[in-house]
Amino acid sequence: SGILYIVPTPIGNLGDFSTRAQQVLSDVAAIAAEDTRHSRQLLQQFAIQNDVFALHEHNERERAGKVIERLTNGDSIALISDAGTPLISDPGYVLVQQCRAAGIKVVALPGPCAITTALSGAGLPTDRFTFEGFLPAKPQQRRKTLSALLDEPRTMVFYESPHRILHTLNDLHDVMGAERTMVLARELTKQFETYLSGSIAEVLDQVAADSNQQRGEFVLMLAGAPVQEESAADDLAALRTVQLLREHLP
Ligand code: SAM
Repeated sequence: SGILYIVPTPIGNLGDFSTRAQQVLSDVAAIAAEDTRHSRQLLQQFAIQNDVFALHEHNERERAGKVIERLTNGDSIALISDAGTPLISDPGYVLVQQCRAAGIKVVALPGPCAITTALSGAGLPTDRFTFEGFLPAKPQQRRKTLSALLDEPRTMVFYESPHRILHTLNDLHDVMGAERTMVLARELTKQFETYLSGSIAEVLDQVAADSNQQRGEFVLMLAGAPVQEESAADDLAALRTVQLLREHLP
């Protein structure tokens, strides 16, 4: 059978479209795209002529069956999304899961992704992090989700849209406190790429004061909660160890 290729596309700067990604998109039998019009434009700019059909969150389940049929018959298919890496806050999960279940080979190419780009440029700890995707649109749900992350020790990464950025920063301020360190990455790889960093209060002030800072695409990163110094339980365990040593050593 054919191969399902997962192919990242640029998140702004067209120079980030890898030669391998372009080659795969030229070679496959057809390309499944989130938005065919948007993707045809990109492909045209790179002189990639290929069949493009729609696979988005509303038809993924129905389309997956047909794509698997084609793959089984020997056609290789590539999946792309509007920008960045498919399946990362983008469609594709249902298709990949079903391909794996059907024993069809899936090959994912590495490439542009807003999470890794933002994290590697932010200056927050990256040894461990958690990706939270988009926060809920409803204020109450959003605050609840944030409250549940209050003690999260890992760096947290969120995607955010321009019309919610101020609301989300306000909620962060109220739930996480004014002092927690954060970094807001905007328009990555594009002309107006900006990183704002500081306390939540500082970043909120800068964004609130300048409407230009409320435009574009955002990755919001929050420092993890400070890990407690030795807890009471650790102290107790240490004390027991000393006692045991005293009993057993000459
Ligand atoms: N699949 C994409 C990826 O690999 O990053 C993400 C798709 S998701 C629907 C779109 C969100 O990703 C935006 O709302 C924004 O939070 C983030 N994003 C995408 N491109 C970005 C960029 N150039 N700068 C900052 N954030 C970006």
